[in-house]
Amino acid sequence: MLQGLSVSPGVAVGRAVIVRFDGVPTYRRALSSGELDDEERRLRRAALRAAESLRGHSTAAGGGIGDELAAILEAHALIACDETFLSAVAERIRGERVNAEWALADAADEFGRKLALADSSAMRERAADITDVAREVGRQLSGGTTSTPRELPRGSILVADELSPADAARLDPRRVRAIVLERGGATSHATIIARSFGMPAIVGVPGLCAAVSPDRAIVVDAERGTVDVAPSKERLRRGLVRAREVRERQRRLRSRTARAAVTKDGLRVVVRANLELLEEVPALERYHAEGVGLFRSEFLYLKSAPASPGVEEQRAAYERLLDAAGGHPVIVRTYDLGGEKGIGPARGENPALGLRGLRYCLAHPDIFDTQLEALCLAAPRGDLRILLPMVASVSEVRAARQHLERAARAAGLSRPPDLGVMIEVPSAALSAAELARESDFFSIGTNDLAQYALAVDRANPEVASLYQPLHPAILRMIRMVVEAGRAAGRPVSVCGELAADPIGIAVLVGLGIAELSVTPISIGPVKEQVVLLDAGRAAILAGKALDASDASDVERIFKAWRL
Ligand code: PEP
Ligand code: MG
Repeated sequence: MLQGLSVSPGVAVGRAVIVRFDGVPTYRRALSSGELDDEERRLRRAALRAAESLRGHSTAAGGGIGDELAAILEAHALIACDETFLSAVAERIRGERVNAEWALADAADEFGRKLALADSSAMRERAADITDVAREVGRQLSGGTTSTPRELPRGSILVADELSPADAARLDPRRVRAIVLERGGATSHATIIARSFGMPAIVGVPGLCAAVSPDRAIVVDAERGTVDVAPSKERLRRGLVRAREVRERQRRLRSRTARAAVTKDGLRVVVRANLELLEEVPALERYHAEGVGLFRSEFLYLKSAPASPGVEEQRAAYERLLDAAGGHPVIVRTYDLGGEKGIGPARGENPALGLRGLRYCLAHPDIFDTQLEALCLAAPRGDLRILLPMVASVSEVRAARQHLERAARAAGLSRPPDLGVMIEVPSAALSAAELARESDFFSIGTNDLAQYALAVDRANPEVASLYQPLHPAILRMIRMVVEAGRAAGRPVSVCGELAADPIGIAVLVGLGIAELSVTPISIGPVKEQVVLLDAGRAAILAGKALDASDASDVERIFKAWRL
């Protein structure tokens, strides 16, 4: 029994097919100066062919089942022809007088190494984009051959070391019951693709390829993150039963997701989506999100690293979000760079307390103004709202507003988009009444609020048990923010992970929160939880929780109710 990270839910039993997506071998050849022009032309032709081939796969994948995959392939097609990328390779061809294959691998390595330095796993995984694209261009340089099997037997479980979007496009998803990968993480493309296909998937399973015997029936339980590589007859039978039960539950959940979330006593709770990548946009429709509650725009910044994204590139991204939201709000958080996200600024000794979030933007007005300009240009396309991360003081909001007003005037808007404040630093929670006067809405980021209030690094496993977003001290802060928002007529939502936690939802609704924003795949489960609640009763229990002595006390209060 192997264990990995479950990234797309479900249970499947099927025959293991082990696939190796071979890379293209790279050789180095020295060129004479007379050969350099031809070599650059060869590179550019291969890049064009790779882009065409990726676009072809993208069109084939699009239309329903593979929308996310189509979007990723389209993005890869753009990277393949991106001038920053191609000039970096061409410079190597000329500077080092080497063949295109070598220069390509070398440039991809360097881009990858830079991204690999990022602290955030999501960003490290973006290095995979460059590797995937380089592999496609490399394939074209070597004549466009591929060793990927086009047709797997029906009912296969795909077992591989990793899966690039282009490799995924070469598979027929109707033949695959589940995907299990030795590598990959929660935000890797394989994850997005598996979710897009609605297929159970487990990634990051060490020793997988060596442990699985080809053609043998295996049980993939992506509810528990386990892969049974040598099941007995009895375990196979139980796997089949569970697969059926889980399919039935998912069907119920889908019908729940499509309906609005209303508590038993009639409180309507809005559930929006937290997005990081444009590739996730089709999930808005699939999971019936009531808009985007948090777009982590720093991922746009990462994607165009080492340069920062220009006005038009950003404008196109924000317009795409607004179009997909179909009139619902789209809340774009300005770059939350620095800190544990590890991009942008030098990190210093204590990055979480350093030049990050809004502080970084105010210190780099060129980057901030470009983003605000793009946001203001996109704003007429829908209900766009702007959210400021890591606010600690009123003066920061005032300064940001000045930048926004300038950008709005330049874009010819009669009034700037609504400007909201993320409440994720204790000083912001405790100044909520003052902040309400300077801003239009609040979004509580419980992930950071817990980190800063409890002095517990949210990513450090050594103190993970002390990371308790249900701590009464945090609930008291949330309550203060709700009251300040109410007094000033400012909407208050929660976009941290607490909004997807079953007890967290009950506590938040009890504290007066009626807008939640969660990762798209959690929208159904959150709604399922909301409809079981009685908001009046939750408010009484939340009152008790505010007087509790610690987080376990809070849990006890709410668990007792659910029994
Ligand atoms: C938060 O801090 O709760 C939040 C939603 O932002 P992030 O997780 O991106 O820091
Ligand atoms: Mg945060």
